[in-house]
Amino acid sequence: MSAPTTPPKKKKGEENENEQDGSYLVTYTRHLERRLRALETEKQLLDAERMRLERELHSLRNELDRLRQPPLISASLIEMLDDGRLIVKSSAGPQFVVNSSSKLTKDELKPGVRVALNQRTMAVVETLPSSKDPFVRGMEIEELPDVSYADIGGLQEQIREIRETVELPLTNPELFEKVGITPPKGVLLFGPPGTGKTLLARAVAHETKACFIKIISSELVQKFIGEGARLVREIFAMAKEKEQAIIFIDELDAIGSRRLEVATSGDREVQRTLMQLLSELDGFSPRGNIRIMAATNRPDILDPALLRPGRFDRLIEFGEPTMEDRKEIFQIHMRGMAVDPDVRAKIPRFVAATEKTTGADIKAICTEAGMFALRDLRDRVTIKDFEKAINKVLTQGFKTTSTVNMFT
Ligand code: ATP
Repeated sequence: MSAPTTPPKKKKGEENENEQDGSYLVTYTRHLERRLRALETEKQLLDAERMRLERELHSLRNELDRLRQPPLISASLIEMLDDGRLIVKSSAGPQFVVNSSSKLTKDELKPGVRVALNQRTMAVVETLPSSKDPFVRGMEIEELPDVSYADIGGLQEQIREIRETVELPLTNPELFEKVGITPPKGVLLFGPPGTGKTLLARAVAHETKACFIKIISSELVQKFIGEGARLVREIFAMAKEKEQAIIFIDELDAIGSRRLEVATSGDREVQRTLMQLLSELDGFSPRGNIRIMAATNRPDILDPALLRPGRFDRLIEFGEPTMEDRKEIFQIHMRGMAVDPDVRAKIPRFVAATEKTTGADIKAICTEAGMFALRDLRDRVTIKDFEKAINKVLTQGFKTTSTVNMFT
């Protein structure tokens, strides 16, 4: 919008010169007002931009200051002296007697805590979170599993026993104190694969609102001496930090098989890991907030030291599901499926056709039936799909057959 900066000169001899001058001035004033408003808006925009840039400059200056800071030394706190000074030891060198920042409280400074030291004065400037192996952190799989007892078909007796031995000590520890008994420390679930051992352990964690830490035993078998034992130690330390935790050790036989006289160096490392597990089991209170469960398909090869009272002293057997159980399991896995209306009436027929199968087999049957429907581009699963799925799972070696006869 370009505007004349000075009023144009009046022409000589024009009529109503004064009138014209007046109207010209009005127009010109309006024009100037418009221009003023436009400039004010422009100024506001520029002010906002200036403030944004100032904020950016401030944060960049902060970042620069942070990057220029000298590194701190990580160390662990060994001892607290009466005069308030601390003895610390950095991982690399000797021990130092140092002061601490006045911002740190006595509660924060405890022997064993990781701390950061100023490079020049070695004074403790802050406390650090305890270091954990990333492998161990990865094991904490679920803060709260999404499986509840309603998602388990059958297993009534097993659920009752686990509620008494695992759930009750977490939810009502005072009951045990009143009666004057200690609950079993560890519970061992044994039975063929796919019978719902892990499922039940997750359901207990869900019910008790406890953190569920699942360890696959074979992952504890490490290449270097002492590594497996360190992992066991760190897993139990992590569980102790939680308000309530259930440690579930799957395939316990991988580290818990019977110790033999003749052993290779690899066997000895596995034995060391087992011994660490035994000492951790001995080291925590049975009335505390950590419950230990383990599962195995081969209880017959476990080391007797694991099964003695005070360790895994409660054994719970998981067998193949009965007809009634299989019916419930079918119903559970069909719950979320879009099936033809007549399919549910045929469940007894499916149950009769799936003798000697496990819960995992039934889940596989339901998934396969859904796959058959998808293949034909249908959005409903029919009786035929289920029949084909049962045939496929039972005949194509898909079935998780029961393994050994327990404790023979
Ligand atoms: P493994 O010994 O091989 O670890 P497992 O006994 O721990 O086997 P799970 O992992 O609990 O077996 O079961 C596998 C799947 O089978 C579960 O995720 C669940 O979907 C299904 N399943 C097994 N048993 C039942 C059951 N009783 N009710 C409902 N679903 C079940």
